Amino acid sequence: MPKSELVSTDPCTGEVVWTGAAGDPAAATAAARVAAPGWAATPLDARIAVARAFAATVRDRAEAFAALIARETGKPLWEARTEVASVAAKVDISVTAQAERAGERHGETGGVRQAVRHKPHGVLGVLGPYNFPAHLPNGHIVPALLAGNTVVFKPSELTPAVADFMAACWGASGLPDGALTVVHGGRAEGEALAAADIDGLLFTGSATTGAALARQFAATPHRILALEMGGNNPLIAWDVADEALDAAAALIVQSAFLSAGQRCTCARRLIVGPDGDALLDRVARLSDRLIVGAPFDAPEPFMGPVIDNRAADALQAGFAALIGRGARVVRPLARRDRERPFLLPGIIDVTGVAERDDAELFGPLLQVVRVPDFAAALREANATAFGLAAGLIGGDAALYDVFWRGSRAGVVNWNRPTNGAASTAPFGGVGRSGNHRPSAFYAADYCAWPVASLESDTPAGGIATGLRP
Ligand code: NAD
Repeated sequence: MPKSELVSTDPCTGEVVWTGAAGDPAAATAAARVAAPGWAATPLDARIAVARAFAATVRDRAEAFAALIARETGKPLWEARTEVASVAAKVDISVTAQAERAGERHGETGGVRQAVRHKPHGVLGVLGPYNFPAHLPNGHIVPALLAGNTVVFKPSELTPAVADFMAACWGASGLPDGALTVVHGGRAEGEALAAADIDGLLFTGSATTGAALARQFAATPHRILALEMGGNNPLIAWDVADEALDAAAALIVQSAFLSAGQRCTCARRLIVGPDGDALLDRVARLSDRLIVGAPFDAPEPFMGPVIDNRAADALQAGFAALIGRGARVVRPLARRDRERPFLLPGIIDVTGVAERDDAELFGPLLQVVRVPDFAAALREANATAFGLAAGLIGGDAALYDVFWRGSRAGVVNWNRPTNGAASTAPFGGVGRSGNHRPSAFYAADYCAWPVASLESDTPAGGIATGLRP
């Protein structure tokens, strides 16, 4: 059967960035299976050396890499540069994480030597999203390779060029053939990879896809499945001092609109008390000043378009549906022009809207909810089946303590944007946001399995109790 033709385009111009054919996940997996024993047997130091060479290659090619990410996603060049820097930095962080989380430990129990060592799973599949097409798959690929697995990577069909660029960096850094294979394609190839001869699947993407994968994996519980999914993230602004209003507004705008709202940790719901008007006014006025533009524009934009017209249309339909249910527009989620998916930041007051969907609207749209007291704020924050990020702006240490204890999310920040996360910490959500296999610093945990051993150089034993003389 002929493989379907794939095309990726620049969201800002509609120009073609990449064309190619969909790949064959089963064939790629078979090649990865052949390469697996050799890579697993390669000493850890040698695997680390290859990964460090990859980081050096990425740094050498950083400008071209960033320019490609910017073209294929539409994100500003400055932001694409930070993504490339994260790709390179991931290697040293993962080396440390692996030693700490999945290293070798020796001890003694009852006079007997005891050891804990880790083994790679074998062949791991990686499915990537479009919003951070390099950094997020890389966050699975680096720890998986370091642990001694071979990897089959299916990137988002919207960002294949970035995936090829990243794979070429590995190829130029001494990674043996078959250790990392890129398979292009969309949903069908993703499903085929999940069904192929893999020992586990490391996924970053939407909750709907993650749930489908969990169903597909239900019959094979021995295969590892790590799901990093989206959120419907709350941000409470409470007791913000007058002199802190500008800073608070900046944190809110960053939380909601960074990356054109296309971060899994972006704030979707801003929860304010009866005194919230002054702050809301500053948020709206600051949003008006955000430059929405193409990656290479001067002056530099704060944010680019969303990924394509389909996504922009869906977001605008979601916005219209909220208006239809009685929400009040603070700032319209307007199109900058009719042809391309540039959206101006939207703000909508949904207080009193009876039926709000608990959905992730993955774009620059902030919903405002007004509540009478902090208990109601916390209830609203947790009124979601997701549990990725949550934030509190304002208050004091005692209020943060109440918020931290009461909020149900894997990332809980105070007076920082919801989308701020340290790469030296674990990263993942609960509820519909994840399956308790956090990534980032804890990725080492799902890339290897522990083997516990009791060891003696010579047979040493005797039966102390229960023997006839
Ligand atoms: P998506 O779920 O549509 O696609 C992700 C990947 O899965 C793509 O490679 C896609 O081709 C593949 N896929 C789609 N349907 C599939 C299926 N049924 N079976 C197997 N594979 C399938 O996600 P997206 O739209 O590319 O990315 C945006 C989403 O990712 C948002 O929901 C966002 O919140 C989430 N995200 C989560 C994190 C995190 O770390 N928690 C980070 C970034 C993005």
